[in-house]
Amino acid sequence: MTISQDDLAFDRQHIWHPYTNLTQPGPVFGVSSAEGVYIHLADGRRLVDGMASWWSVIHGYNHPYLNAAIQSQVTQMSHVMFGGLTHQPAIDLSKQLLDMTDEALDAVFLADSGSVAVEVALKMALQYWVAKGISHKKQFIAFRHAYHGDTFGAMSVCDPVNGMHSMFSGFLPQHHFVDAPPAGDDDNWQASHIEPLRQTLEQNHQNTAAVIIEPLVQGAGGMRFYAAEYLRQLHQLCQQFDVLLIFDEIATGFGRTGEMFAYQSAMVVPDILCVGKAITGGYMSLAATLTTRKIADIIGSFEGGNLMHGPTFMANPLSCRVAVASLELLLRSNWQQKVKSIAEQLTAELAECRQYQGVVDVRVKGAIGVVELIKPVNMHKIQPQFVDLGVWIRPFGRLVYIMPPYIIEPPQLTLLCDAIKTVTKQL
Ligand SMILES: *Cc1c(COP(=O)(O)O)cnc(C)c1O
Repeated sequence: MTISQDDLAFDRQHIWHPYTNLTQPGPVFGVSSAEGVYIHLADGRRLVDGMASWWSVIHGYNHPYLNAAIQSQVTQMSHVMFGGLTHQPAIDLSKQLLDMTDEALDAVFLADSGSVAVEVALKMALQYWVAKGISHKKQFIAFRHAYHGDTFGAMSVCDPVNGMHSMFSGFLPQHHFVDAPPAGDDDNWQASHIEPLRQTLEQNHQNTAAVIIEPLVQGAGGMRFYAAEYLRQLHQLCQQFDVLLIFDEIATGFGRTGEMFAYQSAMVVPDILCVGKAITGGYMSLAATLTTRKIADIIGSFEGGNLMHGPTFMANPLSCRVAVASLELLLRSNWQQKVKSIAEQLTAELAECRQYQGVVDVRVKGAIGVVELIKPVNMHKIQPQFVDLGVWIRPFGRLVYIMPPYIIEPPQLTLLCDAIKTVTKQL
């Protein structure tokens, strides 16, 4: 199905895309359909998808099992309010989430997007301390290069420089920022790596409600990988200083790093866990915030005891049903093996980029491959180059990165890696 030139012009003139400028719009490509690992452009071209639509489409597009799940739910009910009512899809999904995660996690809030899941996590932490009668723990400790979402609460714990804080200064709440965990893994761990965090906790624990961090991989704020040891020490410090620990696994959850959840590589369990993105296999917007019985009960012990959040489309049945199906597919698949072979192939095929003049680093963790450049890319130029090479790769800043659907086959992954090589070689 083609999209007319008039309609593409209408889009450029009237419709904002993520982080875009309506006065000077960049290129956008019309999509007519998608299937498996392919995105079909309206102009007839076919692209191998390197982005999994921002981490979410882990099983590929237009999956028969997910299609069937959502179609059968439509004939039952597409939506019903969650205030005072419940339904099987929400119950099944919550059971499944509690089964998949550590047994300490016992309570689920079904949120309508990742940013909302983070807002809810921050509210849980704040309400916990209020309910305990401790009124001065109102701030968070967060990290440079962090990304937790675009709503104001979530944005306030994103990297203060590239997280748009200056644009909104005077409006955003102020938190404490710690240098990002040093890049690397447990092999190059040094005791000094935890010192900035320890100092910040020592100085600020009395007014800190929680530490919020993306475990193992900082995503949109820099695609940085760090040691599991950092998480173990962070966990200990939070206990020592009586501060809650929030893990934002919206990007890392559901197998992407090679573990079902990144926290499992460190064998530490957070007080509050956010998941999202891949939860519905990329079909619908949905996320969740999980916490422990203890935190749920302390929040519940205060006055009305209500957790103060409740979106209109909370626990949307279509979203929940397709999430249940997506998690079933994941658990039934040999995802560990798939992610491992994607990692091996990325490691082998992207290595060559290290020799290119414009490249400072190449790194792989699970089914995530990153080529870091010296200078930011010119998106308006590089995006059409990738499309001409038959791939969908959307870099940002100095980062060219891919996190393909787990179902990708070796030749398709080679096409992605070759395109990255071709484009980054000339920089
Ligand atoms: C994408 C993302 C979010 C925000 O999720 P949305 O669904 O876009 O609101 C939050 N945290 C992390 C780590 C993410 O990658």
